[in-house]
Amino acid sequence: MTTPPQGVTVLGATGSIGTSTLDVIARHPERYRVHALTAHRDRRGLLTLCLRHRPAVAVLGGEADAAWLRRQLAAAGLDTEVAAGEAALCEVAAAPEAAVVMAAIVGAAGLLPTLAAVRAGKRVLLANKEALVMSGALFMEAVAAHGATLLPIDSEHNAIFQCLPSEHRGGLGRHGVTQLLLTASGGPFRGWSTEQLAEVTPEQACAHPNWSMGRKISVDSATLMNKGLELIEACWLFDATPQQIQVVVHPQSVIHSMAAYSDGSVLAQLGNPDMRTPIAYGLAWPERIDAGVEALDLFQVARLDFEAPDEVAFPCLRLARQAMEAGGTAPAVLNAANEVAVTAFLEGRLGFTGIPRLVAAVLDELEVLSARTLEGILAEDARARRSAEALLAAFTRGG
Ligand code: NAD
Ligand code: MG
Repeated sequence: MTTPPQGVTVLGATGSIGTSTLDVIARHPERYRVHALTAHRDRRGLLTLCLRHRPAVAVLGGEADAAWLRRQLAAAGLDTEVAAGEAALCEVAAAPEAAVVMAAIVGAAGLLPTLAAVRAGKRVLLANKEALVMSGALFMEAVAAHGATLLPIDSEHNAIFQCLPSEHRGGLGRHGVTQLLLTASGGPFRGWSTEQLAEVTPEQACAHPNWSMGRKISVDSATLMNKGLELIEACWLFDATPQQIQVVVHPQSVIHSMAAYSDGSVLAQLGNPDMRTPIAYGLAWPERIDAGVEALDLFQVARLDFEAPDEVAFPCLRLARQAMEAGGTAPAVLNAANEVAVTAFLEGRLGFTGIPRLVAAVLDELEVLSARTLEGILAEDARARRSAEALLAAFTRGG
C-alpha cells in the first residue's frame, strides 16, 4: 500500500525560506502536497505561488489584498479558499489537513501562528527563530505538552541537530557533549572598524557574501545580532547554557556548525551554503531526500578558516548573550528593540552602529520580568517597541 502525500503548510511562503521550501517540495510530489500558503503584503508573489502549487487555502495580511487574490484565482479557475489576518494564519497553522508546518514568517509576527502549529502537535520546521527567542521556555513546554516534532531549519541548528545523538534532552553533559560550536560567516563587514561601520548603507548590509536571504536577517547577519539570536535559539533547542556555546567565525560558510564531545571528538556538518539542505532534512527526517543542492567540491573550497568574533565592533552578540543570561523577558525585549532598530536602519532613520546602541538602551531601560505567560511576553514586546521608538526620536535629534 502506498502512503498518500503529506500535507504541508508554508507560513511566509513568498520569502526566501518559503520559496526554497516550495522548491524542495516540488521535487517530491509523491511525498508532499501543499495545503496552505501564506504571505503578508506580497499578493502578486502569492498569486504566482498559488497558480504553481495549487494550495487548498491561501492567507494574506489584509482583507483588500485577499479579495484581489480571490478574484484572480477564481478567474484562473482555481477554487482556493482565501482568508486574511492573524486569526486565519493561526487557523491554517493548526489545520488537520497538514501534518507539516514550515514556520518561515520573519520576526515576532510569526510567534502566534508558529505556536498554533506547535499546540496542534505538528511537525514544525522552525525557521522563525524570533518566535523561540521571545518565548523560549513556553515554546519548548508547548512542544513537549502537545507532542509536536520540532526540527530546526536555521542552518547552524540543523547542523548541530545532525551532529548530536538522537536523544539529547536533559542536558548536553549527560550525553558526553562538552560544547556546541556555532559558526558565523562574520557577515559582509568582517574585519571593519566601528568608524568604518558608521557609514554602512542598507544596500551594503543586505549584500551577504555567502547566503541570499530576506532583508531583516541580512541586516542581522551584518550586525552579528543574527548570531546572538541563534545563540539564544541554540540554548532552548539543545538545553544548553550560553557558556556551552562558542561562536566561531568561519568565513567560507561550509561548516554549518559543530558539536564537541568529552573524548575530544568534534563532529561537523558540511555543505554548500544553500538552505534547501536543512529544509529537505527537516521535511524528510529521519530520512534523506534530494534537495537540488550541488555536491560539495572540497577542492574548490580549498581551505577552511576560523577566527574569534569581534565583540567590540559588533556588540550585538554580547547583548544577546547578556539577555539570555538575564532570562525572563530580556530576550523578547532584545528582539523587539532589534526589530525596531533594523526597520529604522532600512528606512534611513538610524545609522548602522545605532542598531546596537538602540538595543542596549532599551535593555537598560526595561526591567526584566517573568516570561511565564504569553500575554506577559507580548506586553513586554509592545513596551520594548514603544521604548525603542521614543529613544530613536531622541537619537535622531542628536541625543
Ligand atoms: P523574508 O523577508 O524573505 O520572508 C518573510 C516572509 O514572512 C514573507 O513571506 C512575508 O510575506 C512574511 N511576513 C512578513 N511579515 C509578516 C507579518 N507581519 N505577518 C505575516 N507574514 C509576514 O524572510 P526570510 O529570509 O525567508 O526569513 C524568514 C525567517 O527564517 C526569519 O525568521 C529568518 O530569521 C529565518 N531564517 C532565514 C534564513 C535565510 O536563509 N533566509 C536562514 C535561517 C533562518
Ligand atoms: Mg543561521
